[in-house]
Amino acid sequence: MPFITASTLAPDYDVIVVGSGAGGGQTAYTLCMEGARVLMLEAGRTYRPEIETPMFQTPEEAPLRGAGTPDKAWDFYDATVDGGWELAGEPYVQGSPGAGGDFRWWRARMMGGRTNHWGRVSLRAGPYDFKPYSRDGLGFDWPIGYEDVAPYYDKVERLIGVYGTSEGLENTPDSPPGCLLPPPAALVSDLLIRQRAQRVGVPVIPGHRAVLTRPLDWKNSPGILHPGNLAAQRIIAADMQRRAACLWATPCGRGCSIRANYQSTTVHLPPALITGRLDILTDAMVSQVVMGSSGRASGVRFFDKRAGTEHQARGRVVVLAASACETVRILLNSTSASFPNGLANSSGKVGRYLMDSVGSSLGGQVPLLEGLPPQNEDGASGDAVYAPWWMYREQHAGRLDFARGYHIEISGGRRMPGVDTMKGTEWLTGGSYGRRFKADARRFYGSFVHFYGRGEMIPNEHSYCDIDPRVKDRMGIPVLRFHWRWSDHETRQAAHMQKTFADIIDALGGRTQNPAPADGAKAISTGGSIIHEVGGAIMGADSRTSVTNSWGQTWDVKNLFITDGAVFASNADKNPTLTIMALAWRSADHILAALRRREL
Ligand SMILES: Cc1cc2nc3c(=O)[nH]c(=O)nc-3n(C[C@H](O)[C@H](O)[C@H](O)COP(=O)(O)OP(=O)(O)OC[C@H]3O[C@@H](n4cnc5c(N)ncnc54)[C@H](O)[C@@H]3O)c2cc1C
Ligand code: SF4
Repeated sequence: MPFITASTLAPDYDVIVVGSGAGGGQTAYTLCMEGARVLMLEAGRTYRPEIETPMFQTPEEAPLRGAGTPDKAWDFYDATVDGGWELAGEPYVQGSPGAGGDFRWWRARMMGGRTNHWGRVSLRAGPYDFKPYSRDGLGFDWPIGYEDVAPYYDKVERLIGVYGTSEGLENTPDSPPGCLLPPPAALVSDLLIRQRAQRVGVPVIPGHRAVLTRPLDWKNSPGILHPGNLAAQRIIAADMQRRAACLWATPCGRGCSIRANYQSTTVHLPPALITGRLDILTDAMVSQVVMGSSGRASGVRFFDKRAGTEHQARGRVVVLAASACETVRILLNSTSASFPNGLANSSGKVGRYLMDSVGSSLGGQVPLLEGLPPQNEDGASGDAVYAPWWMYREQHAGRLDFARGYHIEISGGRRMPGVDTMKGTEWLTGGSYGRRFKADARRFYGSFVHFYGRGEMIPNEHSYCDIDPRVKDRMGIPVLRFHWRWSDHETRQAAHMQKTFADIIDALGGRTQNPAPADGAKAISTGGSIIHEVGGAIMGADSRTSVTNSWGQTWDVKNLFITDGAVFASNADKNPTLTIMALAWRSADHILAALRRREL
């Protein structure tokens, strides 16, 4: 019985997985497909993409013509049915309000978590990214290298479907043949940017996104994903055939009812449920890990949000994948006489080294793109092309004033116009209205390009979260308090981004409304606002300075694992989610082997 209630919980499970997003979805998938009985506890509601996804609605059918609201930050049709920058009754606290130290926290409370909306940019971290300290003496090395994670990147790409190319570039790993799907056609604006960016030394190559440009290889991939397991191969082969290729017409952020892009709800959970080994309990907010005898976790305590009652679930292994900060919150709230400072916290590092991506952006208007013949450019609804970090050599030679790189995400083209399509264009139109404004709209529509930098942040002692001593959420669970500070490396990197974007816009013959800011402290995003938050329970080789070992297994509690971004020891410029999934698969394999040997 896959969807259960608190009253129909089985007395015991092999593994309890907390959270159903990228980390929880991947963990549950691997465990169930390979024979473990899993309970997934999810704080949000059930979500059924096949009937709830508003793929084909047009803006005029929505209130405010689909414009964003505090409830729905991106737009009315966004896939996130419950979540956002603020959650009713679930506050968090700024440790040093103002002072540039604010942290923004975007949470989803629904089955599949943030994977229902996410941008689907899926980049592998490279060999340098796992050993950053060895390269420049800053931050920490991971206890594993690229070669340990590469086989899992291969598997995740084959399973979820990622388009892109292998270009042989430095620290931008190639995928083995058969892993990637072909990229979609680039838009006119992409082609122009590729040509002109080259003039200022920036390479632009096909993007990598978790979208099916063609059906998955259901004949060959199942045997590679689940060697020797015919039952799992049959399930995933059949499920892969139920996923259609992209029809290039609808915004991915609304979700995809034809399952052409990756959401945990459309990719990980359906086959895991088919195994019959997965029980999912939604509206179940886990507050604590419960400890049993001999230093082992016996299960978790959770709050049934529908009934308003508290319960416990029991399992041989507990896996936390509630998203990096929520996982930290559960650990810090799991206090007892033996663990007065929170669970798995003998190092004092739980909550420490919180990281986000460095973000900075600039848009421009390009006369060369004005007045092109109208055509449907809805396209890939995200990066068809991007620029990987290209200055490794200069940086290593000390010719840049900051450490670590960034990549550039690129947008342009003529997507379905929305209510804000011509918003803020008075600097071009002179504030025209009526017929003149219509003519201006036709002229300028599709002539805008945007560049978004996503850069590496180095972990620092000032960016962390702890439990606020006073504030509790509506379920009575103490909430997180955030402390944040960018270092000069990040602000200088943001300044470099702005200069690069301005150079590219210049090379395009374009113009910007205002000059690109030269001060990185002004150009950099607020902490957390890029929604790539990781760290807080970092992995390491030494139990005195880290929370988990290389398998995401906490040093202090042998049967407690973490499979979300909390374990990241650094936050490469590559968006984190593909790595979260690769590490989750790796941890799940480790758990399965240990369960078979009865070591857990
Ligand atoms: C607008 C946006 C765009 C993004 N774009 C990209 C991108 O292009 N590329 C990329 O790599 N990443 C992107 N991300 C980030 C990406 O979504 C996250 O990295 C990823 O979803 C993290 O997976 P997770 O499993 O750790 O957390 P989530 O996906 O957030 O899932 C965690 C789940 O745990 C549940 N939960 C939380 N607390 C509890 C509790 N106490 N008990 C039970 N359940 C709990 C939550 O309800 C949620 O469902 C984007 C995110 C957003 C919001
Ligand atoms: S663009 Fe493609 S993948 Fe994205 S929602 Fe539409 S059909 Fe699905």
